[in-house]
Amino acid sequence: MHIIDLRSDTITKPSAAMRVAMAEAEVGDDVFGDDPTVNRLEALSAALMGKEAGLFVASGTMGNLVSLLAQCGRGDEVILGDQAHTFVNEQGGMAALGGILPHTIRNCPDGTLDLAEVEGAIRGDNIHYPRTRLVTVENTQNLCGGNPLTPAYMHQLGALARRRGLRLHVDGARIFNAAVALGVDVKELVADADTLTFCLSKGLGAPVGSVVCGDRAFIAEARRARKVLGGGMRQAGILAAAGIYALENNVGRLAEDHCNAAALEAGLSALPGIRPEPVQVRTDILYITIERPGLSGGQLAANLGERGVLITSSGPKRVRAVTNYHATAEDMPLVVRAFREALA
Ligand SMILES: *Cc1c(COP(=O)(O)O)cnc(C)c1O
Repeated sequence: MHIIDLRSDTITKPSAAMRVAMAEAEVGDDVFGDDPTVNRLEALSAALMGKEAGLFVASGTMGNLVSLLAQCGRGDEVILGDQAHTFVNEQGGMAALGGILPHTIRNCPDGTLDLAEVEGAIRGDNIHYPRTRLVTVENTQNLCGGNPLTPAYMHQLGALARRRGLRLHVDGARIFNAAVALGVDVKELVADADTLTFCLSKGLGAPVGSVVCGDRAFIAEARRARKVLGGGMRQAGILAAAGIYALENNVGRLAEDHCNAAALEAGLSALPGIRPEPVQVRTDILYITIERPGLSGGQLAANLGERGVLITSSGPKRVRAVTNYHATAEDMPLVVRAFREALA
């Protein structure tokens, strides 16, 4: 059976050319700072993001955690959206490992945080209060349909953070999807951020890894935090080489994933019993609400699985499909057909 795997963009496997780059990578002990390929990935990432320095980490979760640990002390507070991956899907690592208090406010449907609500969440100077240290947003905002946050919004949020003396961190797991979908230089999306992390292992197709970027002093602290978490890697250049390959070859092609997701959305809109959730700008993520009574997300995913289409259930009446480079434009009508049959 022809399997079309839309569970996530993390399922992407390294291409033959990426594997060649990995096999040929020059390596050294990265904890000693000796791995030339890791150093090259970190410098390339920092240059792409317009920041002073970068740090290669094992995952997006680790990238967000070391970023918060490096900038917040015990009892400090972080403002973030109630739909943020860092709040929902990272085991509360900031609280568990850093003693950092998450202060959630609602995500608007477009993934933004309302600026007045951010301002309202900032604590004054009072002996009873924790200290608000940092605000973080996600771009693209995964649980809000993968909608990208715009440079205009980021400039406003950045101005607010600076005015109130807060650090601004961007969870840019899919920041390149945002840049490609909006047609802007990725630098512009993070110009207002003090720190950011992005994933190499999602739509960019590397097998492992994320990169954290910021100024040199921050990266030095983040490097310490990475080490205590057990994330000091040795001849990691083999992995970093895949990341360099991804940044040099796989960014532009994210547009195909977005195009495929839009085609899928159009095809599924015509089917009764389900409703693709709209976004302002489509990236690679498509959430679908199930309107048919008695049909659960798990059941629909299982019905599709029997037809070779793999998606995830993301709620009792919600499923998620994520396009990626193993799924072609020709596959999209087949996915629509599988939905039609699975709903019949
Ligand atoms: C996937 C993801 C992460 C974490 O990435 P892992 O590499 O799976 O730890 C963080 N933030 C967002 C928005 C993500 O989608």
